[in-house]
Amino acid sequence: MRTKTSDGRTFLAGVDVGGTKVAAIVADRGGRQVGRAVRSMAARPIGVEPIVDAIRAALKAAGVHISQLGAIGVGVPGRVDPESGVVQLATNLDWDDVAVGSLLETALGVTCRVENDVHLAAAGLLDQAAAGGARSLAYVAIGTGIGAGIVINGRLYRGARGMAGEIGHVIADPEGVLCRCGQTGCLETFAAGPAIARRAAEALTHGSAPSALRAVPTLSAKAVYDAARAGDSVALEVTQETGVAVARALAGLLLTCDLERVLVGGGVAAAGVVFMAPVLAELDRLRDASSLVAEVLSPDAVQLLPAKFDAVAWGGVALARRSAADNAAFGHPDVEIRDGIGEEVARLEEVVARETLA
Ligand SMILES: [Zn+2]
Repeated sequence: MRTKTSDGRTFLAGVDVGGTKVAAIVADRGGRQVGRAVRSMAARPIGVEPIVDAIRAALKAAGVHISQLGAIGVGVPGRVDPESGVVQLATNLDWDDVAVGSLLETALGVTCRVENDVHLAAAGLLDQAAAGGARSLAYVAIGTGIGAGIVINGRLYRGARGMAGEIGHVIADPEGVLCRCGQTGCLETFAAGPAIARRAAEALTHGSAPSALRAVPTLSAKAVYDAARAGDSVALEVTQETGVAVARALAGLLLTCDLERVLVGGGVAAAGVVFMAPVLAELDRLRDASSLVAEVLSPDAVQLLPAKFDAVAWGGVALARRSAADNAAFGHPDVEIRDGIGEEVARLEEVVARETLA
């Protein structure tokens, strides 16, 4: 693979913007990480400065000058217009109509593209062949909220409105609680981090079983999974029910899209085996009960994403690679675009442009 272009812009950056921290990686044209840096997003109000700092620090760690950077791809948790780079709504960051793409371009002088973080993570898994080389896959994030990024036949599927993968708002329990979206009993109100903490608190209030959780001043999903790992019966019941609800949602996704692989990540899933065990047990049960489900839901279909893999940032690198090829100042014929997100985003953009004109 060629690793140098004649204008010297040999490197790409991918950025994962989270509610508490931002991680930036710098990669060479061969897709090898050459630098990484993490910065806090804690200061309020949050501007793009921590993102600029993280990119500059990752460049420094890589020994790469900013003039060698071809493009930047950024993943943000929220609704994003990938055409304009405007973040329309990112609740965790208190961002509403923030032109992240152009703010970063002004600050750094480098082409910058922005995409929803969960969508970008799925693209990163595809681009890095991190899902066992699967071409049809999903990334499901289970944390403060629940959402999925879907890649079908090697194409990132954003949906008609960019809202594909909103599985957090599929109803899991019609008798459940009101969701922030207006519906009752969405998966997010049952299996997202705050919902797990709430259900554990309710179980403690309504039951009298001894539990280590009674001594925890502020319940969190992490506290519940820590207690479950230690064999706490109240925590185990909550995590068991969570696993069943998550497994049903994942099975629905697999049955709808006939995916090869689903990788699960996010803050709640970071609990690891204690989170995954009840999910996998319920998937086994569904598989055993139905030959049709067994056909679609292979035993290795659902896996935990290794916590150290920067899926969002690698998706950013893939997006940057595509963007760099678009950039006239960078559009040399020897620019490599790997099969995957780059070409697919371009093709999707053409479709969107055609539909807009029609
Ligand atoms: Zn909802």
